[in-house]
Amino acid sequence: MAAYYARQDPYGDFVTAPEISQAFGECLGVWSAVVWEGMGRPDPLVWAELGPGRGTLMSDARRAVAQVAPDFARAARVHLVEASARLRAEQAARLGGDVTWRDGVAGLPAGPAVVLANEFFDALPVRQFVRRGAGWVERFVADGVFVERGSEVALGDAPEGAVREVGEAGADVVRALMRRGGCVALMLDYGPAESGVGESLQAMRGGEAVDPLVAPGDADVTAHVDFAALAEAARGVGAAAHGPLPQGVFLQRLGLASRAAMLARADPAGAGRQLAAAQRLLAPEAMGRLFKALALCDAALPTPPGFDA
Ligand code: SAH
Repeated sequence: MAAYYARQDPYGDFVTAPEISQAFGECLGVWSAVVWEGMGRPDPLVWAELGPGRGTLMSDARRAVAQVAPDFARAARVHLVEASARLRAEQAARLGGDVTWRDGVAGLPAGPAVVLANEFFDALPVRQFVRRGAGWVERFVADGVFVERGSEVALGDAPEGAVREVGEAGADVVRALMRRGGCVALMLDYGPAESGVGESLQAMRGGEAVDPLVAPGDADVTAHVDFAALAEAARGVGAAAHGPLPQGVFLQRLGLASRAAMLARADPAGAGRQLAAAQRLLAPEAMGRLFKALALCDAALPTPPGFDA
């Protein structure tokens, strides 16, 4: 999945929440500032984003906090975890100076941290296991086709041929973040609230679904995020998990609709576009329900805003 981000402009293949409405990044910026208040206003704070894409979310978030939470803006040091050199250049152009890039979460400096991740975990690799007889085999790719090899893994019972996906890479990121201590992480992504069987690996190229094996590195390959597994990984290292909540519910509680209404009033010619964009993020039949928000945090810290209702 990483080769694709290094080579292609992913935004030809999909559109993400921060690109739909500036209110998305603004609300997450203010959310971060409120979380920081609950942490006791640590200074400095590591304010990190995982997989920032074009840098739009962080750019909108920073503009919002500069206005409404200047103390937070001064304390927050922005760190971007980004694998793609090409996207790093776009992020630099969008965000200007005062930003540090990291290859992975292990490279983040120690200390209290607020971490944002929108559509990051769905880009991490998954392992697929297929139920065969009384056990499970693992699916690999060899010479451009799927092959199955025996495995010892125990994943419970399931009908013959059922597929289970295991996102070890995502769980590793969660454990690394939560072991830091003093960390609150918000992840927004596409996936079910409960773990289950089913194959979700998919590839998009030029806005159309394609076979994930046809054009490795040229199609955007993603898998649904297993939120229950990420929450379990956090609890396994003593952290607390809040949610997942449907994205629409979470953003509504953060005031995204009010912010969109304000943007619409300020720009009568673009009002229809502003309101439609907010609806796309909030409405259950659009991105409001299939996308989820999950907060993972140091168990000593208060429940983050939006998850306490
Ligand atoms: N958050 C952005 C982009 C989502 S696309 C948005 O909402 O628009 C996924 C992002 O994660 C890209 O920036 C991609 O380059 C980055 N990424 C994918 N796998 C990664 C990895 N293993 N390590 C670091 N960054 C990664």
